[in-house]
Amino acid sequence: MSQGQGSNEHDASELEAGYTAGHRLYELGGIALTTILGTWLVVRLFQSPHLSGWWAPLAALMGMLFADFISGFVHWMFDTWGSVDTPVVGRLAIRTFRHHHVDQKAITRHDFIETNGHNIALSTICATFGLLWLHASSSLTSVFFAMGGAFAIVFVSMTSQIHKWAHETEPSALIRFLQRARIILSPAHHAVHHAAPYNRNYCITVGWMNGPLRAIRFFETLERVITAVTGAIPRADDIGEEAALETIAELPVDAPLPQRVD
Ligand SMILES: [Zn+2]
Ligand SMILES: [Zn+2]
Repeated sequence: MSQGQGSNEHDASELEAGYTAGHRLYELGGIALTTILGTWLVVRLFQSPHLSGWWAPLAALMGMLFADFISGFVHWMFDTWGSVDTPVVGRLAIRTFRHHHVDQKAITRHDFIETNGHNIALSTICATFGLLWLHASSSLTSVFFAMGGAFAIVFVSMTSQIHKWAHETEPSALIRFLQRARIILSPAHHAVHHAAPYNRNYCITVGWMNGPLRAIRFFETLERVITAVTGAIPRADDIGEEAALETIAELPVDAPLPQRVD
């Protein structure tokens, strides 16, 4: 069943068909690479000077908040700019974001690889940075940040699964408990993202970063700057140019609006 945004002009089945064998191969390769680099990072951490175990919860919190922020940043980027025809990322990433907006339940029908492959592949970056950090220095500070990187791999990798649970009609009792406790993204919190004006709550790991980012108008400011520099209208490809211009008009910021180009 489609639960699309009323003004979205994209066709769900056409977007779904964009999931090719090549894309799946990329996901499988990404999972393999992250598994290898992540394991290597953990081994290197055990070989490094040991931190007191008390630092582990702080490193986990840091990794979780970092993953939440990155989930929001990447989600905002692909929701807001470009189209399926954008070189490289159009087919690889933007397609899945457009598809999710016209058929929110589709993610609940995806298997493990299609749901999580992209995010696990993305975690390769966290593993690489963690390894480079330890390679550059084995001080306790470096060990702490590399440990945060290891936790970030876990949380970035889990983000799509957590997002999928937020859309499931009947998740398990344990998942419902974690959602109610706001330890993972709650369906009610995420539903705000899928409601007009479609420009809130981009963070989808735990959602904890949404409040602070909203408070400082993080994404709104970035959009103003990008629009001023490029003339591009945020969300024009996602919800249509007219609705996108209305969304901008709702923002209480006294800056000139981009003009519609016919
Ligand atoms: Zn979205
Ligand atoms: Zn969603």
